[in-house]
Amino acid sequence: METNISKIGVFTSGGDAPGMNAAIRAVVRTSIYYKKEVFGITQGYEGMIAGDIVKLGTRSVGNILQRGGTILKTARSLEFKTKEGRKKAYDNLKKSGIDSLVAIGGDGTFTGLTVFYEEFGVPSICIPGTIDNDIAGTDYTIGFDTASNTAVDAIDKIRDTAISHNRLFFIEVMGRNSGYIALNSGIAGGAVAIIIPEDNITIEELFAKLDEGGKTNKKSSLIVVAEGSKLGGAMDLAKKFSERNNYFDIKVTILGHLQRGGTPTYFDRVLASKMGVAAVEGLLNGKQGTMVGIRDNKIVYNPFATIVNHVHDIDNEMLRIAKILSI
Ligand code: ATP
Repeated sequence: METNISKIGVFTSGGDAPGMNAAIRAVVRTSIYYKKEVFGITQGYEGMIAGDIVKLGTRSVGNILQRGGTILKTARSLEFKTKEGRKKAYDNLKKSGIDSLVAIGGDGTFTGLTVFYEEFGVPSICIPGTIDNDIAGTDYTIGFDTASNTAVDAIDKIRDTAISHNRLFFIEVMGRNSGYIALNSGIAGGAVAIIIPEDNITIEELFAKLDEGGKTNKKSSLIVVAEGSKLGGAMDLAKKFSERNNYFDIKVTILGHLQRGGTPTYFDRVLASKMGVAAVEGLLNGKQGTMVGIRDNKIVYNPFATIVNHVHDIDNEMLRIAKILSI
């Protein structure tokens, strides 16, 4: 491969996601496979600004494939949003001899890298690592499968108590702008209703549906709510519904940050491994300024301009399936 790249910096940024470690491992080992040096930058853009940079070897990333979180740590950096902050980051990269970057993160991370790339021209490539699956240009992001499995596991457990007590549960899952976790875990967990930011169900329609369950002697019901639902979170919905219902014993569970942790599933490990290899090979083949994605099980490279500020539209077929199956 013909390229001027010899020292690759890798970092994780934004919200952590299970499988990020598998991606770091793949980036490090692929770099070394192609006889390049590789450096870990800790805490995302914060570490770049602080010069917190360490050389990594094959063994530095041993035994992390199966671990949640990120060994490089992650952070949100306000300073990187300023020109001075980004200049400091650039100076530190130069000092370490780093001539190219692989970023693992979400939309904000890519926005930051796009600005940096335009200002300083450091060859860069992104890997989508976020549990929300809200990134355009890829069918899946690293961490989404694990987070959805965690949500389904919790939903199954809640169902046991719901059935035993005639209970109606509002279960809140993560997803500020994206209903992917809610929709997928809701279908897999047999929810009677799934409330996501992308859907336009009204509160009257939702409550009519729940009332119907009461009338037809439904013994328990689970409603999965994405945290960014336009109708309010699980707490709000439970409060409003309890004001008009005396049939069900109404409860709320907010799954919160446990969805971010844990051992990555086989799917996320394989996805992260594929994307990590593709990111380094992309850099070495002149595909800088892109994000690696997976489309119909094939690796694709999406130019930054087609990703940043674009959304991954919800799968309407999944919404239709959820409606059919929740009668
Ligand atoms: P998640 O989807 O899990 O929230 P994310 O990558 O979208 O992950 P953000 O906190 O939105 O997380 O972004 C990560 C970091 O990217 C920010 O803390 C900031 O340092 C940098 N960043 C975001 N937007 C910009 C921007 N317009 N200019 C420069 N840097 C930015």
